[in-house]
Amino acid sequence: MTKTPEDADARRAIAPVICYPNDTLPEPDLTLYAQVRQGARKIGETLVPPRDARCFEVPAGHFFRITSVEGPQVGDLNLWNASELSERFYSGKTRALHGTHLTTGERMWSSFPYLRPMATIVSDTLEWYGIDSFGGSVHDVIGTRCDPYTGNLLAGTQYHHCCHSNLTRALADHLGVSPDNAEAHVHDVLNVFMCTGFTRDTGQYFMKASPVRPGDYLEFFAEIDLLGGLSACPGGDCSAEHSSDTAPCHPLLVEVFAPTEGALDEWSRPDPNGYDRTHGWGQGG
Ligand SMILES: [Zn+2]
Repeated sequence: MTKTPEDADARRAIAPVICYPNDTLPEPDLTLYAQVRQGARKIGETLVPPRDARCFEVPAGHFFRITSVEGPQVGDLNLWNASELSERFYSGKTRALHGTHLTTGERMWSSFPYLRPMATIVSDTLEWYGIDSFGGSVHDVIGTRCDPYTGNLLAGTQYHHCCHSNLTRALADHLGVSPDNAEAHVHDVLNVFMCTGFTRDTGQYFMKASPVRPGDYLEFFAEIDLLGGLSACPGGDCSAEHSSDTAPCHPLLVEVFAPTEGALDEWSRPDPNGYDRTHGWGQGG
């Protein structure tokens, strides 16, 4: 243990500042999205089986809704640019911009060098949950995704239905490539419906039973052409354990809705980030 300095209390008492004040972020036009959604019609659906994953495509300007069916269930969501898989959801930067958990009006941002909104949350039936007395909330961007490597590290297991493996198999099927080729595209997720936080005393990542009930949903507006991957986590509602076949597990429904012709004439898809990408090369210093 290091020696505590005399002014320790004073140093701890310094008030925090927000790293990325987000009042200059381009605002989504939620009023327009709500109008467009009213006329939208369903064009397809995908049922994600328990302890498995499926891929789905959502063209720019369309909506997709993830619904809990049959029983409380957490979903692990990956998003890619449908025509350029290297542009994918960037959980860490989304967390820095919006905080640890996402809800209506917030966005899933893409990786460098694109850093643009991929999808905007337009509806969240769990918005009422807020932040509970443990510091827990829903739809986090702090977890990664359950995976067989961590299970092997901590318990020596060989379990094949973690979200990481489910997403790998689903993407391999969708692209017609081997799991080896698909795996590198799988990335940190939006934990849909999952209730998580960090313990105040030890700073450890915790989960607790999701408040989601059948009929609850999270709905998104696709800002660019998307390929999505959704895994119905083997943790079920994540009340006790994941990375095993122990927890009761349920399917998740993904539905896609198309806007009416002309409804988005006033809207344009976001451009990739405007940074010039020279990184100061050749400027000395
Ligand atoms: Zn999982």
